[in-house]
Amino acid sequence: MSATSTQHLPDPGLRDRFHERSLEQQRPLSTVTMAFTVVAFLCMVGARNLVDGPAPPLTYQLLCALVLLLLVLAIPNVKSTLLFGAIGVAYMQVLVAGLALNTAGLAQPLLWVLPALVVIPVCAAPLWLTPTHFFTGSVLFYAAAFVLLLGEPLAHDVGIAVWTWIVVIGVPASMVFHLGFYRFRRNHFLLESQLAQLAATDPLTGLQNRRAFVKQAERRLGGLAPEARISAIFVDIDNFKSLNDRFGHALGDWALHRVAQVLMDETTTEDSVSRIGGEEFAVLLHDGLAGALKLAERMRGAIEAIERPDGNLTASFGVAEHRRGESIMVLLDRADEALLRAKHSGRNRVCAARALPLDALQPFAADAQAIEGGAGRRYRWDDFYLISHFQPLYSLSHQKQVGFEALLRGEQDDGTLVLPVVMFAPKPSNDEGALDRASHAVHLGNACRSLPGDAWLFLNILPATFIADGYADQLATLVRSSGFDTERVILEILESHGGSVDDMSRAAAAYREHGFLIAVDDFGAGQSNLDRLLRIRPDLVKLDGELIRATTHGTEQPILPKLVSLLHQAGMLVVVEGVETTEELILAVESNVDFAQGYLLGRPAVEIAPPEFVHRQIDDAFDVIAQGRAHQHALFESEVEPYRVALRLAAAALLAGAVADDAFATLATFERCVSCFILDDSGRQIGHEVPGPAWSKEGASLHPVADPRGARWDHRPYFRNAVLLPGVAVASNPYLSLASGRPCVAVTLAVQFAAERSVIGVELDWSELGLPWPAGE
Ligand code: GH3
Ligand code: MG
Ligand code: MG
Repeated sequence: MSATSTQHLPDPGLRDRFHERSLEQQRPLSTVTMAFTVVAFLCMVGARNLVDGPAPPLTYQLLCALVLLLLVLAIPNVKSTLLFGAIGVAYMQVLVAGLALNTAGLAQPLLWVLPALVVIPVCAAPLWLTPTHFFTGSVLFYAAAFVLLLGEPLAHDVGIAVWTWIVVIGVPASMVFHLGFYRFRRNHFLLESQLAQLAATDPLTGLQNRRAFVKQAERRLGGLAPEARISAIFVDIDNFKSLNDRFGHALGDWALHRVAQVLMDETTTEDSVSRIGGEEFAVLLHDGLAGALKLAERMRGAIEAIERPDGNLTASFGVAEHRRGESIMVLLDRADEALLRAKHSGRNRVCAARALPLDALQPFAADAQAIEGGAGRRYRWDDFYLISHFQPLYSLSHQKQVGFEALLRGEQDDGTLVLPVVMFAPKPSNDEGALDRASHAVHLGNACRSLPGDAWLFLNILPATFIADGYADQLATLVRSSGFDTERVILEILESHGGSVDDMSRAAAAYREHGFLIAVDDFGAGQSNLDRLLRIRPDLVKLDGELIRATTHGTEQPILPKLVSLLHQAGMLVVVEGVETTEELILAVESNVDFAQGYLLGRPAVEIAPPEFVHRQIDDAFDVIAQGRAHQHALFESEVEPYRVALRLAAAALLAGAVADDAFATLATFERCVSCFILDDSGRQIGHEVPGPAWSKEGASLHPVADPRGARWDHRPYFRNAVLLPGVAVASNPYLSLASGRPCVAVTLAVQFAAERSVIGVELDWSELGLPWPAGE
């Protein structure tokens, strides 16, 4: 019987679902029939007390009723079909026991027992979820009844009448009730299942329809294990409308059917495949992005092999991996966005959804990310992978690596590099900022694995990204979730269009609040301007490599030390980039730059190489400078010394009462002398200057300011230094002379004349190449 009853439900899953559904359906009815028997039992107990005869104690009977009540109360809470059946069996047995107690000592017990033996199995019919339950419960019930009846002294004919009642009325009635119920329930269930199946299926392809797919996906995403990975593939047949329009809808339908077949063949029963709309399909599979991309590529190939009258059928694919907490609709949206890009870039291709910052941090499948022999990870971006290269920065004073600049590189599947022009080329539906943001995630993902514990990480950031609303918070979250401190991250604002200075300085404050340090990149190149620097107030300024090259190749005048000194005074540390030669390294050290970076010190690489000879190179540079400085100083002194002597003689002559022309006569013949002059206590020139040989050499190029008379020079270091050291002939650093328009050095001496202090001096032409420069400021 059991076999016949369930033969229409061959699928064990379906049978289980049927039993579970039965449990839900029978629960209320069973509760009602059981509650009815409790009431009936209590009525019987009451009636029994009206009848003469030695009755068992009332407490026994009430105990029986209590157990029955507890069983009734258990019914609404039972979850398993087995327990449900067990309750049914217990309930029947307790009723028989109660019946035995109630009828003990009666003169006509059969009048009480017989109706009960017929009614109880009928009342129990809703308790049996399966035929097995029914047969077990009924057999046990009649076995107990048999024991009960054996205890009664029955006359032969009465015995026959009783057993006839039970066999002819009791057993058939309960069987009809149970099997009738069962059959009704099963048919109802099958109909319900068929309806649900129809409502969930696309009639043309037999695939799940959109509603069912979404519902199932929601269930799957809801019960996802933390380490589980799920991806969605969105498929859209290419140029499907033309197929319909040119060859008729029947052919279109056929194509839909074939594509559905391909999708089914390529997936497993674990995956969901759906026709989500007209000629659009979706697949949800238990795999990461790399696996999903491979699968999509296989599907694409298989669809391409299907012929249509005017060529081959093709489809475009968008693939996205599920992010924690994301709804199915958002996941599908991202896959759809990738599909759109596949369409835009020529159809018949697979595109992956863009990695957003947090997403990129989630490790991709191991096989997809490992670079041959490398420590870095790569992340899918369009048709290639993003990887990080790190270039070291050295502190020149400490002679050690202090940080690494992360540089973005693109790599093809086969490991060849994607040219930056291709990588950063503007594409339809592509925003520059997305790649910029993704690069941060990629670098952080890689840096947390490779960077030494105390090193800074320099991240390049476009001004537009830097000022984007909320990005400071987003980046801070990203940095922390990758195990970094924001204090270790230095944001290098790239020198590029976009972003007003006001917005930048506001944004800088937001990043600082999170603990980030800020650097301005490429200062001294392109459109860098001082106002921007002073408004953003970066912690570090990166000087463009060209600046150091201009200085080494161009002039003898060391501009770099001045610029560095200026930046230091503004409270900014200075990094010089693009150090490629020892000469440039020496200049960097000499210029008092704090940090240096360049091929000489370390090339960008996936793996961070331990520093080897770099500290020695820097140390050598320091030595060269120390020696050079002493040498330069000696040369400078020897060059200036004759002028000092002559100036002291001129002072003596002036003190002795000579006029300026006479007093300066000798000095004015010295080769480099531009002019000799006397300044009063307030720095104004007294009388005319006495020109020297260098004076006439050059017609003044700065005409309006060529005549120094009447001008005040007390702000010039050569005046102040002389006043500070009265009686000492002091030589100045080279400065640009307004009188000659050339670099000059002044030798000056403060002299106390009778009533007044004056400063006498000589200006020396210092424009000739190869002249030594004094050390220090
Ligand atoms: P693209 O490559 O950009 O995807 O172009 P397309 O022509 O494939 O896309 P479009 O969305 O313009 O056209 C989809 C067509 O699919 C329009 C509609 O008539 C057809 N279509 C939708 N459902 C069915 C269907 O059940 N059977 C058939 N035969 N055609 C369908
Ligand atoms: Mg479409
Ligand atoms: Mg289409």
